[in-house]
Amino acid sequence: MSKKYINYLLFKKNAIRDEIYNYDKIKKELDNEIKNIEKQLFQQCKHNFYRCGNYDDICKLKCKICHCYSNENLYK
Ligand SMILES: [Zn+2]
Repeated sequence: MSKKYINYLLFKKNAIRDEIYNYDKIKKELDNEIKNIEKQLFQQCKHNFYRCGNYDDICKLKCKICHCYSNENLYK
């Protein structure tokens, strides 16, 4: 393998790492956006909770309208 080709592969690897970093950053921003929307939904909705969960679910009650769980700590 030539030195030039090794440098090419290293450059390509770093470029892909940079791209992954950017996607991670975008994913975090979008996750935060979803979290803010869920927070608004939880605050604004006149909930209609139903029993939905299995034994190990984080919360057993979920709103039929906004799909939020009945645990307000999830939306702070
Ligand atoms: Zn609701």
